[in-house]
Amino acid sequence: MTETGIIVGLEVHCQLDTKSKLFCGCSTDYRDDGPNTHVCPVCLGLPGTMPVINKRAIEYAMRVAKALNCTVIHESEFSRKNYFYPDLDKAYQITQYDKPLALGGYLEIESDEGGEKRVQLTRIHVEEDPGRLVHMGNPERGKYSLVDYNRAGIPLIEIVSEPDMRSAKEARKFLNKLRATLEYLSVFDSEKEGSLRVDANISIVGSERVEVKNISSYKGVEKALNFEVTRQKNLIRRGLKVERETRHFLEGRGITQSSRSKEQEHDYRYFPEPDLRPLHVQSWVKDIILPELPDARRERFVAQYTCSLNHARTLTGELRLANFFERVVAPDAALYTPAATWIADTLIGELNYRGMSIDTLDPGSFTSLLVLLATGTITDKSGIEVLRVMLDQRRDAQPCETPDAIVTRLNLKKTSGDSSALAAIIQEVIAENPKAVEDYHAGKNGAMNFLVGCAMKKTRGRSDPKELNREIAQALTNTEA
Ligand code: ZN
Ligand code: MN
Repeated sequence: MTETGIIVGLEVHCQLDTKSKLFCGCSTDYRDDGPNTHVCPVCLGLPGTMPVINKRAIEYAMRVAKALNCTVIHESEFSRKNYFYPDLDKAYQITQYDKPLALGGYLEIESDEGGEKRVQLTRIHVEEDPGRLVHMGNPERGKYSLVDYNRAGIPLIEIVSEPDMRSAKEARKFLNKLRATLEYLSVFDSEKEGSLRVDANISIVGSERVEVKNISSYKGVEKALNFEVTRQKNLIRRGLKVERETRHFLEGRGITQSSRSKEQEHDYRYFPEPDLRPLHVQSWVKDIILPELPDARRERFVAQYTCSLNHARTLTGELRLANFFERVVAPDAALYTPAATWIADTLIGELNYRGMSIDTLDPGSFTSLLVLLATGTITDKSGIEVLRVMLDQRRDAQPCETPDAIVTRLNLKKTSGDSSALAAIIQEVIAENPKAVEDYHAGKNGAMNFLVGCAMKKTRGRSDPKELNREIAQALTNTEA
């Protein structure tokens, strides 16, 4: 549902997944290493050093610009953005200001009303990441902060959208689509912590705009925006004014908090970076060939695998998921539909519940599970049980059994075929539930479902509900006669 009268624009910082930093040769693979171990005179901003631009970073940024339908600017320039803060070793950030790499463009998302909607983009520019402050809140020793420059100089693109989103949900969809697009382009890894950070502008129509800074998770954006919508609406309801201000999102508490007034744009004293030449990319950008992007892949999934639009949207919404699906169905066209259904409706939820990535499950094992289901060896209910065992074993780094082995060990093979045992169970169920039997004969809805449920319990989910339905109906017709 669209929340009426809400206007949202986003500024998204994404780390480009290059091997080395933007202006020096330091490795970007710093996350598992100690503080200040991936630094050099350039990214520490020592006097007398000169930045050298990373060609791969510019190529990645141009891929993004092209994929997002932007106009790449013929001669873009770097500028110095001056501000004094300990995470910025040089006391300026090399960024782009009045001549960014790309202007305009758009990203299509599914709108709240259904159907596609274009979110227009203002610009994309390239800049370096600042370092990282680690705030130590030990009350005994007083509060202090540590600084780690491993992140200083990591290449970023900043993607600025127009205020085209009308709800927190649309903002989340924008980010999901953006993430998918960047991953399809092989320029970004969303699984790296802090690889995406968002500033959100939000206002209620007719009121001042509030900027929420530094939201560092996808879920955080929706939470922060929902909090702001409620806060701003409450102010207006009480006849108060929404102040134009910058606020910080406190992730742990799920609230935003006013932060001291921010520098005005002119306080940054932007000026052209004297150590870097303007970028000439016009002929280069023509040579960039884009891979298949999420929208195209979604259309292909519908056409090639007869996926429903919703399933295709879910499956192609993440690169890893789309690749997994295609590997699972590769051996057998009969698996297209069950694979789409099981992955989209069951597997994703089970993975999220365990905080696991799809990478932990090999497609071959999942194919084997689907074959057991498709051949009627096990019921859907048992299928979920097997899947849970498979995921638990991988999460806990235990030895992984094949789906067949799990079925055998837990004795989950469907009981049909053993019709005398099934008939005995059905007779028991009928004998134990005279009221339900009476209700069934009286034509009451739900009585049959109740009886099927009782029988399912007795067979520990190993029987097919459709078959039980048929057999019970048969048995009840006999007793009536
Ligand atoms: Zn360096
Ligand atoms: Mn920025």
